Amino acid sequence: MKQEIIDKLKAIVGEENIRTDPADRYIYGSDSSVHVANADVVLRPRTTEQVQAIARLANAEKIPIIPRGAGSGMSGHAVPIDGGIVLDMKRMNKILEIRPEDTLVKVQPGVVDDDLNRALKPYGFMFPPAPASSRIATIGGEIANNASGIRSVKYGATRDSVLGMKVVLANGDLVNLGANTRVEASGYQLDRLMVGSEGTLGIIVEATLKLVPIPKYRCIGIAKFDKLEEAGEAICDVISSGAQPSMLELMDNIAITAVNNTLDMGLPDVEAILLFEADGMVKEAVDFEMERIKAICEKHNGFGIEMSYDAKERARIYAGRKKLFASLSRYKEGYACTSLADDMAVPYSKMAETARKIHDVADKNNIIMTAYGHCGSGVMHTKILMDPTKKEQWEDARRAVEEIYDYVRSIGGTTSAEHGIALSKAPSWKKEKADQLDLMRAVKKAFDPNNILNPHKLMDAPDDWVTATKLRYPVEK
Ligand SMILES: Cc1cc2nc3c(=O)[nH]c(=O)nc-3n(C[C@H](O)[C@H](O)[C@H](O)COP(=O)(O)OP(=O)(O)OC[C@H]3O[C@@H](n4cnc5c(N)ncnc54)[C@H](O)[C@@H]3O)c2cc1C
Repeated sequence: MKQEIIDKLKAIVGEENIRTDPADRYIYGSDSSVHVANADVVLRPRTTEQVQAIARLANAEKIPIIPRGAGSGMSGHAVPIDGGIVLDMKRMNKILEIRPEDTLVKVQPGVVDDDLNRALKPYGFMFPPAPASSRIATIGGEIANNASGIRSVKYGATRDSVLGMKVVLANGDLVNLGANTRVEASGYQLDRLMVGSEGTLGIIVEATLKLVPIPKYRCIGIAKFDKLEEAGEAICDVISSGAQPSMLELMDNIAITAVNNTLDMGLPDVEAILLFEADGMVKEAVDFEMERIKAICEKHNGFGIEMSYDAKERARIYAGRKKLFASLSRYKEGYACTSLADDMAVPYSKMAETARKIHDVADKNNIIMTAYGHCGSGVMHTKILMDPTKKEQWEDARRAVEEIYDYVRSIGGTTSAEHGIALSKAPSWKKEKADQLDLMRAVKKAFDPNNILNPHKLMDAPDDWVTATKLRYPVEK
C-alpha cells in the first residue's frame, strides 16, 4: 500500500489506531479457520465518522476492507485474501442504550456477547443467541455470521434477535435499516439481508437488538447413551414431541474423551451424551419439560440421567461443552483440530444417520472426526483432527469434507447452520445455492460496485480452498 494512503488513513484514525508492522499484519491475517493471508494495514476506528471516511478513501482507491470482530470465525471470514485494510471493530464497543420497557438494547458492533449479557443482567434481560464463543465474539461478527448457539433451539438464531442496524456502505454512506419495533412490514428487509452477509455488503456500526427476560428457573440434565444413533433418535423425538428444551446438545465419544483428557472433567466414558436444559418463569413448567425430555431419552435407552437446578452444577456440566473446541486440539499428540466441514444443519430425522456417517467418512479417509453440536436446533458440528504438517492429510481432509457435504446436501441438509461460509465451506455452498449465485452477485454489485468489502468470500470464493489459499500450518513440501 502506498505511503500516501497510509498517511491519509493515519490522519483518519490517529497514530495509535493504525498498525503496519509485519507481526500485526500477520496476526490479523488469520482467524479461527485454517487460512491465512497478510493484511496491508490494520485500523481500529472508534467512531462511525471514521468508518465512513475509511470507506470513502478505500472505495476511491479500490482497496479491500475486511471488517473484523474477534476473529473467531471458523471458515476464513476475516482473512484478507488480497491484503488491504483489516478493520478491527473492537474499539467501537459501547452499549449505547438499554431500554427494558421496550425490551431492546442499542450497541456498537464491537461489544462482546458476554459483556452485553453481563450489562443486561441487572435489568432482568438477556440477548439469547449464546454461541459457545460468547466470551470473545462481538455483536457485529454474530450478526454478520448469523451466529446461533446453545439456546437457539428455544430462542432462535441472531437473525431472530435483530431489530435494526446502522450500516456504513462501501461508498461511505450511512444507512438506517430495520426499526425499533418488534414488527415492521415496509418493503425490502435490508436489515435481514445484512444478517449473514459476512462483511461483504456493509460495515455494521450500530445494532438494535431484541431482548428476552432471563428465566427464573433453569434446570440442566445429562443422559448417557451406549449407541450414538440412539442419542440422535432421542434428539429427533424430543423436538417432534413438542417438548421445549432451551438447550439440547450432543457430544460423541471423541468429544467426551477430548474434554476429559484436557480438563479432567470426569464426563462419562460412553458413546454419546446429551446435555439438555429447560427454562421458564414457573418451576412446575420447567419440571414438566425436563421430565418429558428425560422420558424420551430413556425410551431411546438413555441411562444414568442426572438433572440439577443448581447454578454451580449447571456451569460444571456445561463447561466441558463450552471448552470443547480448545480441548479437541489435545485429543491426539501431533494432531490439530481444524475447522473444516465444521458445521451443517440436517433434518432432525437424519440426525442419527449423520452422526454415524461422520465417523464412517473419517475412518475411510485416515482422519479423526467428531460429531457434536446444538443438535436441538438441527446443528451438527464436526471438526477434523489430523496432522496438519502432512501434505497427504490435507488431501484426506479435502476428500472427507467433500463426502460429508455431498451427503448432507443429498439428505436435504444445508452447508452451514451457524458458522457461515467464507472460504472453506464455499465449494459445497456454491453447489447448494447454484440457482441463486447470480442473484447474490447482483445484490453484491448494488451494495458494493467496486467489490472492496471482504472480496473473494461466499459466491466469489475459490473452488479449491487447499491450493487457492495459504494454510496457517507448516505443511511439508
Ligand atoms: C471456540 C469457538 C466456539 C464457537 N462457537 C460458535 C457457536 O456456538 N455458534 C456460532 O454461531 N458460532 C460459533 N463460533 C464461530 C464464531 O465465534 C461466530 O461466528 C462469531 O459470531 C464470530 O464473531 P467475531 O466477532 O469473532 O467475528 P469475526 O470472526 O471477526 O468476523 C466474522 C464475519 O463477520 C464480519 N464482521 C465482523 N464485524 C463486522 C461488522 N461490524 N460489520 C460487518 N461485518 C462484520 C467479518 O467480516 C467476517 O466476515 C465459534 C468459534 C470458536 C472459535
